[in-house]
Amino acid sequence: MPTAIVVGTGAGGAAMAKELQGAFDVLVLEAGREFRPLALDLRIPERLKKLGLLFDERQIRLLFPAMKVQQSRQGMVLVRGIGTGGTTTIATGNALRRDRGLKAIGIDLDAEFAELGREVPISAAHQNLWNDTTRRLFSVFEEMGLAPQPMPKMRRRESCRNCGRCVLGCPSGAKWDSRESLRAALDDGARLITNCRVREVVLENGRAVGVAADIGARRRVFNADVVVLAAGGFGTPVILQSSGIACEPGLFVDPVLCVAGPWNDALQHRDIPMPFATQREGYILSPYFDYLSYFFNRRWAPGAGNILSLMIKLADTRSGTVSERGIEKALTPEDTRTLTEAVDVCADILRRMGIGKGEMFFGTLNAGHPGGMLPLTGEDAKTLHPRRLPENLFLADATLLPESLGNPPILTIMALAKRVGKIIRRDFASPDSLSGKYPGL
Ligand SMILES: Cc1cc2nc3c(=O)[nH]c(=O)nc-3n(C[C@H](O)[C@H](O)[C@H](O)COP(=O)(O)OP(=O)(O)OC[C@H]3O[C@@H](n4cnc5c(N)ncnc54)[C@H](O)[C@@H]3O)c2cc1C
Ligand code: SF4
Repeated sequence: MPTAIVVGTGAGGAAMAKELQGAFDVLVLEAGREFRPLALDLRIPERLKKLGLLFDERQIRLLFPAMKVQQSRQGMVLVRGIGTGGTTTIATGNALRRDRGLKAIGIDLDAEFAELGREVPISAAHQNLWNDTTRRLFSVFEEMGLAPQPMPKMRRRESCRNCGRCVLGCPSGAKWDSRESLRAALDDGARLITNCRVREVVLENGRAVGVAADIGARRRVFNADVVVLAAGGFGTPVILQSSGIACEPGLFVDPVLCVAGPWNDALQHRDIPMPFATQREGYILSPYFDYLSYFFNRRWAPGAGNILSLMIKLADTRSGTVSERGIEKALTPEDTRTLTEAVDVCADILRRMGIGKGEMFFGTLNAGHPGGMLPLTGEDAKTLHPRRLPENLFLADATLLPESLGNPPILTIMALAKRVGKIIRRDFASPDSLSGKYPGL
């Protein structure tokens, strides 16, 4: 049977491993370790903050190793998950299809979204669980003509305790994350090596013959017939560039800014995060208790239950880079204009809730939806294979997205990864290996 290496176990990598295993003997290489949710009671970070010991978001890894925070050279806080499940384990579980940009270049993922609809438990029926603050906010959004929509969530309703800790890792396992796809691939025979950081793709005569990776202090080379990079929007471009394959300076990240105010017993931190959202031109608005700001931002006073916070998530301009040397990313003047408009809308919502402008405070500008550094174009619509890649090297993560979604991207990345996987199977698996898993092919 032919062999394939998949790098990364997040949204794209896990979907890819599941798609390929059976037709290929799949080896999955993951930089992080097995994911564990943050087990700490909130009182511990609160105490550390009061003592002045939490002052830099990058310290989050000391409390919660699966969450990695970096800063762009311009100071933007950038978040990702490192470990099995990638960033999906620290996601809020939002499940939206956002493939307008892909459709515009001729990529139709209807079949893959339909498959995901069968594989992932998704439901927007959680309004009966919302607390009073969320309900009141929903009414204000409606009064203002903002057309709020309950957010479809990837989670098992029956075991969700509505604890509000989705971004800290679900303690009950109710939230779906990509470890479920990874598990399916492993059950089917795929192998996984964790704590294995891929550094570069090994190329010979214009083809990928494997990858070089560090396991602890040891460098190892793994060979395969096909290599798929799914190390995420921050990880994949670094591997490509270290392998001599240039990317584009088109990094997007979907920056998030929370606008908050004091509100007794808001209890948003114990309610379903991002329970509903409003789609606007260039951004979305959604209620969201921002743990990162609460832990590290001095403007967020102790007493999580007494903060009312709204998230602005921007669809930012494709401008920025990530490389071995670090990340260059700042808001462009256009991004700042859109953000200012969104802040005004949030101020109006908070005012209608009874919070004065003088009481409002901001969260820390942060972002966690990186991608766009080797985007698909109309020319790649059939192959889903950017032309500058060797023919047996593929990508399966947000790096391929042609534009910032300004919206939760997990489902769209997985649909894309599935399609790339089907193309790899069609073009690189031997007919014998296909007949076992896919009778009729
Ligand atoms: C706090 C937060 C909440 C979010 N909530 C949502 C949400 O509700 N819904 C939604 O759709 N999206 C959400 N997102 C975004 C979403 O989780 C990511 O955009 C998505 O997981 C990206 O998928 P990916 O496959 O591109 O990368 P990732 O999921 O980040 O996976 C990349 C994987 O590659 C591994 N890796 C990195 N470098 C290497 C290397 N060199 N060698 C080996 N392995 C490597 C990483 O450890 C990781 O496992 C959220 C993001 C954040 C930060
Ligand atoms: S609200 Fe709590 S139990 Fe429900 S999915 Fe999120 S973390 Fe899991």
